[in-house]
Amino acid sequence: MSFKKFNYIIIGAGASGLQLALAMLRDDFFKDKNIGIIEKKVKFKNDKTWCYWESGQGLYDDIVYKSWKYGYVKACHKTINFDLQDYSYKMIRSLDFYNFAKKKVDQTPYIQWIEDEIVSTKSSENSVEIVGKKDTYIAEHSFDSRLPKNYKPANSINILQHFEGWFIETKTKAFNPEQFCMMDYSHSDKSATNFIYILPFTEHKALVESTYFSPELVKSETYRSQIKSYLENILKLDAFEIYEKEKGIIPMSSHPFYINHQAHITKIGTSGGWVKASTGYSFKNSERLALKIINNLKSSKHPKNKLFKKRYKHYDKLFLDVLYHYNNYGEIVFYKMYKYNDIKTIFSFLDEKTKFYQDLKIMFSMTSFHFIKAFLKHIFSGFRIK
Ligand SMILES: Cc1cc2nc3c(=O)[nH]c(=O)nc-3n(C[C@H](O)[C@H](O)[C@H](O)COP(=O)(O)OP(=O)(O)OC[C@H]3O[C@@H](n4cnc5c(N)ncnc54)[C@H](O)[C@@H]3O)c2cc1C
Repeated sequence: MSFKKFNYIIIGAGASGLQLALAMLRDDFFKDKNIGIIEKKVKFKNDKTWCYWESGQGLYDDIVYKSWKYGYVKACHKTINFDLQDYSYKMIRSLDFYNFAKKKVDQTPYIQWIEDEIVSTKSSENSVEIVGKKDTYIAEHSFDSRLPKNYKPANSINILQHFEGWFIETKTKAFNPEQFCMMDYSHSDKSATNFIYILPFTEHKALVESTYFSPELVKSETYRSQIKSYLENILKLDAFEIYEKEKGIIPMSSHPFYINHQAHITKIGTSGGWVKASTGYSFKNSERLALKIINNLKSSKHPKNKLFKKRYKHYDKLFLDVLYHYNNYGEIVFYKMYKYNDIKTIFSFLDEKTKFYQDLKIMFSMTSFHFIKAFLKHIFSGFRIK
């Protein structure tokens, strides 16, 4: 049997796999390498709306669908408006990103696009064997973004960010396209961390999303009746048309994803712990982590080397612990975070770029009995990240 041989294989052409492939394409180090990117299905549909904050220009500005310089949070009966200053909050439609990346891959001779569904991988002493439904591949190293089947991280704190959003068009002017809504708790399910998220594209068009950060999912009808009621009772809209819908579940977990790396396999994306556990964001993380992987490869280190800063994993775990045990408490936590800290510091904290004194200031601003309790529990468990 003949195997197709590669230096590197990326499994999955999603947010993480494509960002890693694009980072490789941008670096001359990979010019004499043989790279494969294997995806099980060609994507013709927009399946996700990716948002992220970024200061200045970014790598994907050409495909940004809309960006905002102002935002707000409505919580605890108050509105907190923020000016993003050097930052912008940017939105990309996933289909635009898939097409953009596929075109770059097609233009590069040393990276091959392969359509196949991978069924197993086996790391051996010098390489990894990757078995697909159509073919078998051998690589020096594989970057694998597949989530294991029946994925349910045990012995860890697991919250789900789950949501349904409607892209709507209204007859009357309903939105301010200059200002997005990060969270609006004014019409929320008070027994959980639940809010409305709004991305306004024009005065007449927006994505309005009902979002939960909670241990359990809710029925589809729950999101729907919340959005409908919000549009009718808060925005006072009597007529609107839904032209697209988005649904999603993002794991927010303290699971030690690093345990799944092997000598010649690095797990990437959600399955590599690239989703920030306390926020569910991972698109911009993928860009940063892809770059770290590139630098590790160039200095002959294992790609997983120092991908994460431990102290932020501890903060995320504390946060998840509080949200898990006091799920109705999210509104107050986020209110305090946005009320008592400026947006630049919040973004750099979430980007894991703050100094320790800034971390303390943010943590103190959110502190309450629940946080202290979670912190003490964390100390007595020996600061284990599980
Ligand atoms: C609806 C939605 C909206 C989101 N919005 C945001 C946001 O605004 N901002 C943000 O930062 N994050 C967001 N996220 C979270 C996160 O950014 C995404 O989930 C992101 O797509 C995760 O990247 P990934 O590479 O791990 O997975 P994916 O992007 O899902 O990529 C995995 C790829 O692997 C392929 N694959 C799977 N199994 C196989 C196999 N056996 N063989 C070959 N290929 C395979 C899949 O087809 C897929 O293309 C969102 C998530 C969802 C679900």
